[in-house]
Amino acid sequence: MNKGKLIVVSGFSGAGKGTVIKRLVEKYDYSLSISATTRQPREGETDGKEYYFKTVDEFMSLIDYNGLIEWAQYVDNYYGTPRKFVEDEIAAGKNVILEIEVQGAMNVKAQYPNAILIFITTKDIDTLYNRLVSRGSETKDVIAKRMARAAEEATSMENYEFIVINDDLEECVDAVNSIVVSESCKKENRTDFMIGIKNQLDERIK
Ligand code: 5GP
Repeated sequence: MNKGKLIVVSGFSGAGKGTVIKRLVEKYDYSLSISATTRQPREGETDGKEYYFKTVDEFMSLIDYNGLIEWAQYVDNYYGTPRKFVEDEIAAGKNVILEIEVQGAMNVKAQYPNAILIFITTKDIDTLYNRLVSRGSETKDVIAKRMARAAEEATSMENYEFIVINDDLEECVDAVNSIVVSESCKKENRTDFMIGIKNQLDERIK
């Protein structure tokens, strides 16, 4: 069986990546990795659904026993990708989505060179700022820190293979899926298939 693909989605906080990924998983067949974090749950978030919420000590012990593929500090908290789920799903041929920030994305690409790196952005910065403010869950201080982090992240956009603008949700979701489908159709990812077809032809024309 062909191995599944690792799809890394990053983007500015407030760019709507969470909504895009939720819709992508509803509409198409993807496995979504759930990260561990030391951040407090926002209203409506539950442990094991949006994140595995951990204390700093618990998070550090995950790092110690190599339980995370990657981890990073974002604003004032730690975030990391649990190893087992990702490795099991890929081995089972599933396409796995990681929604992580840029340091984590670079770290994943170094370990999995075939990972597909996609950066999602709003069409402009006013839209980004307004989304952060209207979310209502963040203090002014946190919004300012997230905007500052966005400015840093903008410099890493060029390390991504695909930049997708989230203006219309369905268009954005379909664009992300098309990227993954096209990658899967590349001949490098079809070697087993091509050998199989040639063998079948050889059998038929004997
Ligand atoms: P939020 O607090 O808004 O849920 O997430 C803050 C940032 O952390 C987002 O950019 C999100 O993509 C990133 N993030 C979430 N999970 C992980 C992870 O497992 N690893 C890394 N490196 N970043 C993550």
